[in-house]
Amino acid sequence: MINVYEKDQVLCVEGILEETRSKVFVYLVDGMLIDTGAEKLQEELQDFFNNYSFDQVVLTHHHEDHTGNAAWLQENGGIPLLIHPLGIERVEVDGEYPNYRKITWGNRKAFRAQPLGERIRSRTLDWQVIHTPGHADDNIALFHEASGRLFTGDLFVSPKTRVMMKSESVPLILASLRTLLALPFQSVFCSHAGFLENGRALLEQKLIHLENLQQTITGLYAEGMHPSDIDRQLFQKTYPIVQFSNREWDTRHIVSSVVADYNIKKNRHLRPCANTLGILRRGTEILLEQQFTAHSGGDGPF
Ligand SMILES: [Zn+2]
Repeated sequence: MINVYEKDQVLCVEGILEETRSKVFVYLVDGMLIDTGAEKLQEELQDFFNNYSFDQVVLTHHHEDHTGNAAWLQENGGIPLLIHPLGIERVEVDGEYPNYRKITWGNRKAFRAQPLGERIRSRTLDWQVIHTPGHADDNIALFHEASGRLFTGDLFVSPKTRVMMKSESVPLILASLRTLLALPFQSVFCSHAGFLENGRALLEQKLIHLENLQQTITGLYAEGMHPSDIDRQLFQKTYPIVQFSNREWDTRHIVSSVVADYNIKKNRHLRPCANTLGILRRGTEILLEQQFTAHSGGDGPF
């Protein structure tokens, strides 16, 4: 089923998959459709697409729950579809996803997309396109400066990450969160959590949660603990998605992405400083710093 409602002059199309109680959102703002939803919702979404006016589609990333109806839109109306350059070739072939994802969302038929640049114009508004990898390498955010509206694709989803996909990366998610938190936004339109009035606070919460996790994992690894032991120590609960996804989702991907980043920085003689994010607010202006200190002899673990 879908529910359609308006927030901050954005039409929010909330798609609910009855079987798994999963949610995915499509947004319509100023004649620009953001994402196309899952194939499993095609009947209701096609009704929506037929009843509302829009002249371009921006895809937040290539995953099937966001691009599941893109081919239909291309065949029925020829509306331009735009995606980050890293997603272009991927969407030119039919999606090949594991069964559990097809059961949840359906699949993605091939379509042709055009590359997003750094800005995009909807009917009357200019939007900043911000590359925000971490969940997917082609994930983008859309930001409208004057109204402070921010669309984040799948970068946020929840404030406390406890299990993640094999293709995701904690350090990249952290870097993308810092990029977005440097912008003067308040509310967020997330593709799975919907409209978040307190979006800034939630993104900050996610940043702090992941920074703490990164610090703990890095500390244990530097002391010599094996990544699988770190995983067992930090994540003692079992999550149904781990089995359901045949481990495409797993707590251990959190640990391995942090350890991989640690080793890369170690080899570059750079040491990531935990909690070095400084968010300095000056009125509405937000400055943000991320620092890495160069290794100084005898001062660190390497
Ligand atoms: Zn996704």
